[in-house]
Amino acid sequence: MSVWVGRGARAADVDVLVVGAGPTGLVLALELVRHGVRCRVIDSEARRPPGSRATDIQSRTLELLEPHGVLPAMVAAGVVVRGFTGWARGRPISQLDFASLEVPYPFTLSLEQEHTEAVLAARLAELGVPVERGVAVDGLLGGTDSVAVRFADGSSGRASYVVGADGVGSRVRQALGVPFRGETYRSPYLVADVHARWSLANDRVHLFVHRDGFFNVLALPGGRSRILCDVPEAPSAPCVDDVRRVLAARTGLDAEIEAASDVRVFRIQRRLAARWRHGRVVLAGDAAHVCSPLLGQGMNFGVHDAVNLAWRLARALRGDGAALDGYVAERRPAASALLWHTDALHRAARLRVGPARLVRDVVSRVVSAVPAARHAAAALCAEMHVSYGPGAARSALVAPRVGPPGVGDRAPLVLTSDGLFPPRAPDGLRLVFGAPAGPGEVGVAAPGAPGSIDARLVQLYRAKAGTRVTVRPDGWIGARER
Ligand SMILES: Cc1cc2nc3c(=O)[nH]c(=O)nc-3n(C[C@H](O)[C@H](O)[C@H](O)COP(=O)(O)OP(=O)(O)OC[C@H]3O[C@@H](n4cnc5c(N)ncnc54)[C@H](O)[C@@H]3O)c2cc1C
Repeated sequence: MSVWVGRGARAADVDVLVVGAGPTGLVLALELVRHGVRCRVIDSEARRPPGSRATDIQSRTLELLEPHGVLPAMVAAGVVVRGFTGWARGRPISQLDFASLEVPYPFTLSLEQEHTEAVLAARLAELGVPVERGVAVDGLLGGTDSVAVRFADGSSGRASYVVGADGVGSRVRQALGVPFRGETYRSPYLVADVHARWSLANDRVHLFVHRDGFFNVLALPGGRSRILCDVPEAPSAPCVDDVRRVLAARTGLDAEIEAASDVRVFRIQRRLAARWRHGRVVLAGDAAHVCSPLLGQGMNFGVHDAVNLAWRLARALRGDGAALDGYVAERRPAASALLWHTDALHRAARLRVGPARLVRDVVSRVVSAVPAARHAAAALCAEMHVSYGPGAARSALVAPRVGPPGVGDRAPLVLTSDGLFPPRAPDGLRLVFGAPAGPGEVGVAAPGAPGSIDARLVQLYRAKAGTRVTVRPDGWIGARER
């Protein structure tokens, strides 16, 4: 990787250069277009890489994608997953249900990442920003007004800001010389898409834990399932029989895998970039953080980075120099908490020692049996818990939030015939409950007619007459009075 020596200050060709057309880069570009920002999206690969990775699109991500009009196509192509079942010694030991969340989309959507990316890229192309494929960043030089970029083919360009959404091996991160601290888990992992005959409910994620490791089953469209499991050693030519062996040893199911495709071995990492921003260059998605895929969080988290970053870039481009500070201040601690809890689950699923496994199974049963704990665990999986309030990222894991939604929390949403309310307005939105609305404010009747949208909003916001809530452009609460 070369750091290119630029030729002095020149005007930028584009406002934002998005490096990488994975889910993070694509959603960032869609959001930037909503904010009226001129952007380019480039990807080093001539074609979208085959071999799907993420399947689970969490409830919070569905909310954030709604304004882009992509949900109908995604929901039509995907599988609705209503909950999670944990298994040990052939019996269910824990259950989570997304129905307990008071949210517009109380489910996870299972859709192969390739398909998700295709829908997002098609929408972006409709908006006049086609992904430029086969274009790789090779070097960067940050200046006071713009960033000089050198591409792998020797050409060059300038952008006011560059976002490295170029994945775990990020060249942008390398160009900045930013350490990617963490570890690669020791065991290899086997992933396969299978057609199987078994009695497992297709609308749930299943996680079988065993002293030899775990066996994770996720529904895929077309009656298929995605299998993810750890193996002691990587088979030299992974095949369906490797998956059959692990299934028989760890699940106790009366089952048969009839066919498998895309059987692969891969390594899992847990890493966090030491810095997320250098001047006008910012990191997002897997370029900034990578975690175990066991809870289906990584891609979702990258999409949330993109939504947090886009409106700040729009403000920075309008001259608000401090706008980008909040991105790092909010998202990096949240990512650190994500790495912590996905690592904890990953290790718990792989416990070998009898007494430790016993404790884990008892804790799983208790979490399942206590409604508040079960609800908090479902919110965690759905990425509903992410809050930017003081100390919120870590405390949400041990103490579910009490009290009305406040500054830094997700702004509760209601699904109406016109879409989600309150909508994510490019300049934010101010809700006023039970009091005259001023200029630029939206009034909500309090208490509202029983069963009405207003009544539901009052209940979700736990609002009183005179409560005022500012909803930021990314859908989090920016200010609250009363
Ligand atoms: C087996 C598996 C299962 C998973 N399951 C889930 C799941 O269910 N849910 C979930 O949320 N996450 C899951 N993940 C994680 C998820 O796949 C990643 O978090 C997600 O792909 C990150 O998206 P991204 O856009 O940040 O990066 P990527 O998807 O890695 O995209 C980066 C893009 O940048 C391009 N690029 C790289 N270098 C350059 C360059 N120099 N110039 C230009 N372009 C470049 C690449 O070609 C690529 O298209 C899973 C991962 C694995 C391995």
